[in-house]
Amino acid sequence: MKRILVTGGAGFIGSHLCERLLNEGNDIICLDNFFTGNKQNIVKLIKSPYFELVRHDITMPFFAEVDEVYNLASPASPIHYQYNAIKTVKTAVLGAINMLGLAKRVGAKILQASTSEVYGDPQIHPQTEDYWGHVNPIGDRACYDEGKRCAETLFVNYHNQNNVKIKIIRIFNTYGPNMHPNDGRVVSNFIVQALQNKDITIYGDGNQTRSFQYVDDLVEAMIRMMATRDSFIGPVNTGNPNEFTILELAKKVIDLTNSKSKIIYLDLPKDDPIQRQPDISLAKKELNNWEPKIQLEEGLVKTIDYFDKLLK
Ligand code: NAD
Ligand code: UDP
Repeated sequence: MKRILVTGGAGFIGSHLCERLLNEGNDIICLDNFFTGNKQNIVKLIKSPYFELVRHDITMPFFAEVDEVYNLASPASPIHYQYNAIKTVKTAVLGAINMLGLAKRVGAKILQASTSEVYGDPQIHPQTEDYWGHVNPIGDRACYDEGKRCAETLFVNYHNQNNVKIKIIRIFNTYGPNMHPNDGRVVSNFIVQALQNKDITIYGDGNQTRSFQYVDDLVEAMIRMMATRDSFIGPVNTGNPNEFTILELAKKVIDLTNSKSKIIYLDLPKDDPIQRQPDISLAKKELNNWEPKIQLEEGLVKTIDYFDKLLK
C-alpha cells in the first residue's frame, strides 16, 4: 500500500484522482484549503479508513511520511485565479517550495500539475513540449501562467540540485463532473446556462479554439506518468488533440441539452489565447501508448448529467 498525498484533493481533478487512487488500494491524504474545492466532491471517500482529509494551505509547510505527492493545489479558472492574484502566485511558488521540501525530506516522488497556460497565447500550433511559450508577464493571466512556469523551474532545480524525483505534466483544458458550477470556465458555464435556458455567453466571436479532455483520461495519464522510470521527468502534455471552436462547443451543448438558450456575444477577455491544441506524441511514447478515450460528445453527456442532478 502506497501512502499518497494529493494537494488540492477536494477540487475538480483532485477528487477524481483521490477516488481512483483509493480504489486502487492506496492510503490517501487529501490536503485542501477549500478555496475552490468542496467537501461534496470527496464526501463518499471519507468513510474509508484509508482516506484522510486535512484542511491546510500549501503556502505553509506540511509534514507527512508519504511515498508520492500529486501537487494539484491551485485555483484553475481565470475568475478564481484572478480573484487574489498575489495569493495565486504564492500558492504556485511557495506551495511548490513547501511540497518539494517535503518530497526531498521523505524521499517521495512528486508530480506537478502544470498547465498549457505555460505556452501563453501560443505562436506555434499544435504545442509541443519544447516550445517556450508566449506569455505576457504583466497581463491578467500572469499570476497563474508565470506562477506555474516558476513552479516548473523549481521542480527541475530540486531535481538537478537535490535529486528529488519529479514529474511534470502540462494539462490542457479538462472538464467533467465535480467542476464548480460558477467557476466561469467555458464547459461548466455553457452547460449550466443551457440547462437553465439562459443565454449562452460567447466571449469574442467564438472562433477561438480549445481542445477538451475528459477528466478520466487525464487521471489515467497522471497515474501512468507517476509510474514512469525515474530518469523521465517530463514535461509531458496531456490533453485531447481534437480541437473545437467555442461556437462549435456552444452549439453542441445546446443540442445535447435540448435547450431553448440563445447564443449572445460578449467582449473577449484580455490575453485570451486564440488557439490551443496539444501535441501528445510524447505522452503516447512515454506513457505506454496513452491517448484520450472519451471524445467530446460522450464526455459532455456525462458532465451534463452531473450538472442536471446538481441543479435540481
Ligand atoms: P479546482 O479549483 O477545482 O481545484 C483546485 C483545488 O486546490 C481546490 O480544491 C482548492 O481549494 C485547492 N487549493 C487552492 N489553493 C490552495 C492552497 N493554497 N492550499 C491548499 N489547497 C488549495 O481546479 P482543478 O481544475 O481541479 O485544477 C487542479 C490542478 O490542475 C490545478 O493545479 C490546475 O492549475 C491544474 N490544471 C487544471 C486544468 C483544467 O482544465 N481543469 C488545466 C490545466 C491545469
Ligand atoms: N469562454 C466563453 N464563454 C464563457 C466562458 C469562457 O466564450 O462563458 C471562452 C473564453 O473566453 C476562452 C474559452 O472559452 O476563449 C475557454 O475559457 P476557459 O476559461 O474555460 O479556459 P481557458 O481560457 O483558461 O482555456
